[in-house]
Amino acid sequence: MQLIRKNKSKKFVIPVNEPLLNGNEKKYLNECVETGWISSEGPFVKEFEKKFSSKVNRKYGVAVCNGSAALEIAVLALDLPKGSEVILPTFTIISCAIAIVRAGLIPVFVDSDSFTWNMNVNQIEKKISNKTKAIMVVHIYGLPVDMDPILNLAKKYNLKIIEDAAEVIGQKYKNKSCGSFGDVSIFSFYPNKHVTTGEGGMVVTDNEYITERCRSLRNLCFNSKKRFVHYELGFNFRMTNIQAAIGLAQLERLDEFIIKKRFIGEFYTEALKEINSIQLPLGKTDYAQNIYWVYGLVLKDNFDLCEIIKKLSEEKIGTRPFFWCMHEQPIFIKKGFFKGEKYPVAQKLARKGFYIPSGLSLNLCQMERVVEVLRKILK
Ligand SMILES: *Cc1c(COP(=O)(O)O)cnc(C)c1O
Repeated sequence: MQLIRKNKSKKFVIPVNEPLLNGNEKKYLNECVETGWISSEGPFVKEFEKKFSSKVNRKYGVAVCNGSAALEIAVLALDLPKGSEVILPTFTIISCAIAIVRAGLIPVFVDSDSFTWNMNVNQIEKKISNKTKAIMVVHIYGLPVDMDPILNLAKKYNLKIIEDAAEVIGQKYKNKSCGSFGDVSIFSFYPNKHVTTGEGGMVVTDNEYITERCRSLRNLCFNSKKRFVHYELGFNFRMTNIQAAIGLAQLERLDEFIIKKRFIGEFYTEALKEINSIQLPLGKTDYAQNIYWVYGLVLKDNFDLCEIIKKLSEEKIGTRPFFWCMHEQPIFIKKGFFKGEKYPVAQKLARKGFYIPSGLSLNLCQMERVVEVLRKILK
């Protein structure tokens, strides 16, 4: 009885994200069960690594259990000296900062661009010191970071690039694949990403040494000669064959998924552009067309984010607030880090930004409903 009621009411609930799993997912999952290959030793893992890395134009892929894990081993694989500084946007997910801090490195932040919401590339050079060893680029919400100035700085100051391409699977910067710019780049396959494996992630690179380091770190640093003798502390970050099975089926449809995401984004923009109490995401820049990982909105000053989110939730419309800045994280403040630092654009995005339902299962009725409610609330 309860189940039926739940199903009934679900029709009126519009979740912030629902993945689309109606391709070959079931077929490949069946194969896992029928063959007994469910662990990371199964054949889909290598196939997924090969096909995914080649799709983003990289030589090697190392599949892991999630995107945060991918970041951790990607940073470690660069062997940067302890205490080195890594420049990254303050407006990002905590996984980025965690990977840096846990590797014994120091995060150094830059503010965001108010239109693209990506790191402000003009602020990077001032932050470079003699301890700076890398820039962590994070492509935010579907629009790539302007890479050329960053590649130039990396060359000029001999810095490594760690590229977090979790939100731009299948995206291009000036016709080059996102995820192909870092000395090491990472992806996440969380269910709201353009390709999902439930939980999952991948490190990609063209460098054989980094690949081997990541494979080893992912797998407890087992020794190739004497298996249970360890020279380093690794992790069990392996991806299972079950995850890779879903990933392969998803990857087959990536081009189609990007078209759908762009359709959702363009639909919302067209329908919401007359509302002047909100800032909409950019549809394109000189170097890329948005693939709308999520469809974000930024409220003008006189609107309260909590109130708007509450009103949407009363209408059963799911939302998420934007990232909270890294320099304002209570855990870092408690440790005495980033005292007195201010990044006004990022701080405003964190306080006024949120995203609306924009997952791959979203249908036109739901989008129309979201628009109708937003128009009413934001008048
Ligand atoms: C989703 C995401 C991650 C982390 O991925 P998980 O798989 O959830 O650990 C890392 N970076 C960015 C920018 C993300 O959006």
